[in-house]
Amino acid sequence: MRKTVLITGASRGIGRQCALDLSFDYDVIINYNNSEKEAKELLGLLKANGSNSIMIKADVSDRRQVDDMVEKIISYYGRIDALINNAGIARQELFCDVKSEDLKRMTDINLGGTFNCTQAVLKEMINKKCGKIINMSSVWGITGASCEVVYSATKAAIIGFTKALAKEVSLSGITVNAVAPGVIDTDMCKFDEETLEGIREEIPLGRIGDTKDVSGVVKFLLSEAASYITGQVINVSGGFVV
Ligand code: NAP
Repeated sequence: MRKTVLITGASRGIGRQCALDLSFDYDVIINYNNSEKEAKELLGLLKANGSNSIMIKADVSDRRQVDDMVEKIISYYGRIDALINNAGIARQELFCDVKSEDLKRMTDINLGGTFNCTQAVLKEMINKKCGKIINMSSVWGITGASCEVVYSATKAAIIGFTKALAKEVSLSGITVNAVAPGVIDTDMCKFDEETLEGIREEIPLGRIGDTKDVSGVVKFLLSEAASYITGQVINVSGGFVV
């Protein structure tokens, strides 16, 4: 029987690429919030790859929407084998300009979304005594980024969350790991050419990351080959952060 994987924020960027890569082996559930057109287009591609996929709109920061989403998944597939907590937002501004509403929104989505989706799927995983959870952190969660204090804080929190939860659920046969991408070419990282050139010069491998650089690691972490790996943070930054 094919396994199921829920990918939050799968409508665009890294989540979309993970969905495409995993669609050959998994029934992929596309979670999206605003980008319905992109999600629909992706759904067609996943089905063409043989995945019995569905798409579900849910704001991951809203617990009721997340619970409804997970209920739909369980009633449709009868199982949920893996969760990729990928949905996230970023914002660049001076720390002194950050408004408390911005702090709340970013924390609610980046950390709260990870909390909501993980808690919603865990009961089922604990009952089955197996499951894989992958959380999307960032190298900024390791080193901190100027003008991205709140974003860095949420991504650092995801690392703590990953390590602690990995210890708590390991005896239930569940692994929990994090991926910390560097600068990856998506809508989140749109810079002018001059800025991109400056970034490239600071990356030892000499290029901006592609979404496939991240999805390949996610695919590995979901595979049997990674069954003895838990509580880890895999840095995918071309050596930008070592
Ligand atoms: P992106 O292209 O901006 O895509 C973000 C995705 O998150 C979209 O699919 C969006 O869905 C979804 N999303 C945002 N808020 C949501 C919400 N409240 N509920 C459900 N989905 C929501 O970003 P990306 O670069 O692929 O980033 C994906 C993850 O990787 C994020 O967690 C980000 O922090 C992390 N990351 C990215 C980079 C990078 O360089 N790109 C580096 C390090 C870490 P809708 O459009 O449907 O709303």
